[in-house]
Amino acid sequence: MTHEYTLVLNCGSSSLKFAVLQPLTGDCAIQGLAERLGSDQASISYQVNETKHKILLTQGDHQGAISAVIELLKEQALLQSIKGVGHRVVHGGEAFSESLLINADNLKQLKTLSHLAPLHNPVNLLGIEAINTLLPELPQVAVFDTAFHQTLPEAAYLYALPYEYYEKHDVRRYGFHGTSYRYVSEKSASILNKPLNESHFLIAHLGNGCSACAIRNGVSVDTSMGLTPLEGLAMGTRSGDVDPGLMPFLCERLNISTSDVMDILNKKSGLLGISGISNDMRELQQAAEQGDVRANLAIEVFAFKIARYLGALAVSLPRIDALIFTGGIGENDRFTRALILEHLAILGFEIDGQLNKTNGDEHGRISTQSSPIAMVVATNEELMIAKDTFMLTQA
Ligand code: ADP
Repeated sequence: MTHEYTLVLNCGSSSLKFAVLQPLTGDCAIQGLAERLGSDQASISYQVNETKHKILLTQGDHQGAISAVIELLKEQALLQSIKGVGHRVVHGGEAFSESLLINADNLKQLKTLSHLAPLHNPVNLLGIEAINTLLPELPQVAVFDTAFHQTLPEAAYLYALPYEYYEKHDVRRYGFHGTSYRYVSEKSASILNKPLNESHFLIAHLGNGCSACAIRNGVSVDTSMGLTPLEGLAMGTRSGDVDPGLMPFLCERLNISTSDVMDILNKKSGLLGISGISNDMRELQQAAEQGDVRANLAIEVFAFKIARYLGALAVSLPRIDALIFTGGIGENDRFTRALILEHLAILGFEIDGQLNKTNGDEHGRISTQSSPIAMVVATNEELMIAKDTFMLTQA
């Protein structure tokens, strides 16, 4: 059984992340990224053991990239060990509160959800259909970003809008990054030696996309993202929360369309928008260190909004067993973590500068002994997808 592998696919609009994992041990045989799909510069970068490789793609669409990945798996003598394929699917709507073993019927149902995530779900489905064509004998599983948040109470998921928009048009808060929250909450409970169903956590997932979540008795009870991943925290290029009045204001003032404004809010805002330099936190920290005022401001706005949201999410918990940082920034950027915890002194948090510098002690703890626990826990969404795929494909 330990020689069984799962292929994990994460199809984006012009990219495809893939990994082949042993679901029980987490051992990763190969991982890679196909980029610039749809252009004549499409390529695949991948890593086997510690060695990195790059190949150019002749057929540079999603199906071409998946064919090339399959060829690669044959070359590496991995294909025959793969027993299932797990897909990251962004939106499961209200229909899917758990991962799903895909069949012809539920695939049809899945297609009806594309209006909820028009930029993401159709490309996720392309991946499923490409595998149906290329490796039809393998079972496939969909793992949804939204599923973990289906436990949100009505008060947290309803917008204060006419109720019929919820009833007739599915307008509500769904939340995303659920696979990461599920992995990190399970891992944190095990690190803290607590039963998950008696654990109360605040988790900040800070990557290119950023969100935060309140977990009560092991389930999601509030989160910062909403109908789409644009709501909530400031992110690499997304604005997060803004006054909805901004939309007509910018349209009129700049004489642009609503889709232009959406482009600004999704791709030109956040850390990039304020700094004018980059959406990449490492570059911003470097610029801030060299005295760039706007880079520094971008980091301060970013951290303040996170702290403000964490304070708001805390009202859904009876107590905070731990505040957990995860994602590229959460796991690595001690400056942002320090700023956030400084703002959260009201909740009793006090950072241990020494522990924070090393991204935590052996348990990931970065707060002082007298403070509530704040810790760093690395996420692993691919492993969670591989585990779900393994579970659902065991006959
Ligand atoms: P994604 O959401 O695409 O999975 P990641 O979780 O990899 O993104 O996070 C990317 C972010 O993490 C970038 O802003 C990057 O600068 C930041 N990051 C990665 N490593 C570090 C580091 N050592 N210090 C500060 N920021 C880092």
